[in-house]
Amino acid sequence: MAPPVVAPLFDQHGRPLEYLRLAVTDRCNLRCFYCMPEEGINYMPKHDLLSYEEMLRITGLLATLGVRKVRLTGGEPFVRRDLVPFMERLAQLPGIDDLSLTTNGVLTAPYVPALARMGVKAVNLSLDTLDRARFASITRRDELPRVLETFHALLDAGIQVKINTVVMAGQNIADLIPLADLSRSLPVDVRFIEEMPFNGGSHEAGPASLPWHHVRIRQHLEEHFGELTPVVTAAGATAADYSIAGHQGRVGIIAAYSRTFCGTCNRLRLTAEGGIKTCLYDQGVLDVRALLRSGKDDEQIAAALAAAFRFRAANGFEAERQRPLHQLSFESMATIGG
Ligand code: SAM
Ligand code: SF4
Repeated sequence: MAPPVVAPLFDQHGRPLEYLRLAVTDRCNLRCFYCMPEEGINYMPKHDLLSYEEMLRITGLLATLGVRKVRLTGGEPFVRRDLVPFMERLAQLPGIDDLSLTTNGVLTAPYVPALARMGVKAVNLSLDTLDRARFASITRRDELPRVLETFHALLDAGIQVKINTVVMAGQNIADLIPLADLSRSLPVDVRFIEEMPFNGGSHEAGPASLPWHHVRIRQHLEEHFGELTPVVTAAGATAADYSIAGHQGRVGIIAAYSRTFCGTCNRLRLTAEGGIKTCLYDQGVLDVRALLRSGKDDEQIAAALAAAFRFRAANGFEAERQRPLHQLSFESMATIGG
């Protein structure tokens, strides 16, 4: 079907709307300590989560406002039942030409052929270490073998793999070089993410001055690999990408805590319970579930989505200041979707 002709929507700071991060569930089969407490978070009752039909409706409306790219996230996307048929329908939506997902890889391997068939070209695989004991300690589950199975299945299927590694002082610093080294002999990109204070608990995840910030991560990589060469990335990218001489893939650094990329941010987030966030650091700026379930028509919902995007904060620091209690740590990345 031909894509609809869409007048691009820009926010008040001149940034276009192009990209939706869609959290399909808040549930997860791991308990990464930087994301969730050991006992898990208070999961939303099922009827409070958006249904697939509701997600398709909102994504379709966002496509009419300029969204072209959709990334599924969560929680763990594959924990939600019937994800693949839902993705097949998303991939058919007029205007959506890039569908991808972020997964922890535990349940993913059997679905890789289906992902390849529906045209998924790239998958972000979260992996903080290649050491089985450390993996079990960080995620509180002994699942590294299944994650590596997914990794190899994706490569075999010709799907581009981007590894996402959260950099945690005192936890996985020894793993950064072995992970980055995967990009030498394999065509994979490895991106290192600053740890953020969203852990679903009651304490800040890192000290206010983050010890492993993006500058230090780069220095650490350069001490081992020599000078990293910056690579031009697509507009709106959060990662600063670098090539390393002799490597097939790239390495990248995502300054998620330092927030160096807000000036070109082109995305919004839909949480599993139907909240719109126009910044990772805001508290949610629109309840679309309420609009959907109170019988609003497409035009009314599209107008509310457009208004929410138009008037968003200039950057993550402003969004954080606008939160009523400024408190970030009670929120889990599993509800935000990363
Ligand atoms: N469960 C899936 C996964 O782990 O890939 C998708 C959802 S997860 C919330 C999305 C991304 O957020 C993951 O790459 C994860 O490492 C990252 N993340 C979670 N909590 C974080 C934190 N406190 N700081 C930085 N990144 C975090
Ligand atoms: Fe689950 Fe992903 Fe959070 Fe880890 S980061 S607990 S895999 S949602």
